[in-house]
Amino acid sequence: MKAVRLTQMGKPLEQSEVLVPEIGSHDVLIRVTAAGICHSDAHYRAGISKIDRLPLTLGHEIAGRVEKVGSEVTHLSAGDRVCVHYLVHCGSCEFCVRGLEQFCRSGQMIGKHRDGGYAEFVKVPGANAFPLPNEISFEVGAIMMCSSATALHALNKARYKAGESIVIFGFGGLGFSALQLAHAFGSGEVYVVEINPAKLASAAGMGAIAIDARSADPVDQIKEATGGKGVDVALELIGSAKTMRQAVLCLGPLGRAALVGLTAESMSVRPYTELINKEAEIIGVSDHLAAELPSLIQFACSGKLRFPTETLRVVDLDAAQINAALDALQDSIDYVRTVIVPSK
Ligand SMILES: [Zn+2]
Ligand SMILES: [Zn+2]
Repeated sequence: MKAVRLTQMGKPLEQSEVLVPEIGSHDVLIRVTAAGICHSDAHYRAGISKIDRLPLTLGHEIAGRVEKVGSEVTHLSAGDRVCVHYLVHCGSCEFCVRGLEQFCRSGQMIGKHRDGGYAEFVKVPGANAFPLPNEISFEVGAIMMCSSATALHALNKARYKAGESIVIFGFGGLGFSALQLAHAFGSGEVYVVEINPAKLASAAGMGAIAIDARSADPVDQIKEATGGKGVDVALELIGSAKTMRQAVLCLGPLGRAALVGLTAESMSVRPYTELINKEAEIIGVSDHLAAELPSLIQFACSGKLRFPTETLRVVDLDAAQINAALDALQDSIDYVRTVIVPSK
């Protein structure tokens, strides 16, 4: 089969011919019909996130049709539409038994630790394949399993509830989903902080109150908009110490700041006035859980989570096209997602 693989860090992905994977009794073989191209893939190619085993087929945002089913897999049949949860876990360690598989002692990520979806077929454990309703396109089924799933996990970790106000720092792929999911939860006021005029306009068009961080301190703007009270929840999706601190400063009494963006910088907080007095919380967010995916799929199925066609670009399962899409990702940080759709 065709596969597009990382053979050397810092080098373009290569077009390869590899064997169709053999499945075990607990696996399914999926014919890939859509695979999202993600910022993480650009990091793997560049060597920013280390990959231990090369060559490797990248691609962790996958949807397709079941081609073959292992003898122990009972919830799927050949021909079923599915989308893939990219975290493969053991199911028996102390974290897995508590439903916290993102900390699994022997956890692996599809498309990072084992071959992923930049190929005609991918092998995954049956437990990682979720039925994809007909209402959701394969393209959306693929991309929602990464940034949308993480946005949902962030809202869950922040214990976000109907009627609460929320500020979202950053309107890239995560923010685009977070805004829609906040609405799906029955949000109060939703603020989006950005510096990019096109993204501010897009957020406003989707019902958010756009906060232009270039015009004045976003914390002052949010304090003013909330009559001095602050918000219930702040999501930091950018990954900078500055915006993380702003997320904390935006909080009102009992507010929760969920930090999703990655940075190695330190941030400072004045515990007495900025946390203790308000009983505010700072919460770390990493990946998402299999248990959250059925509700994510439901939000997409009911149209509450949407990726209009103008937000999707399609390329073929072709190394040159995929490398070009990865190059473009490094230069731009918009919410448009590129999806590999292998030609027949
Ligand atoms: Zn991703
Ligand atoms: Zn485990």
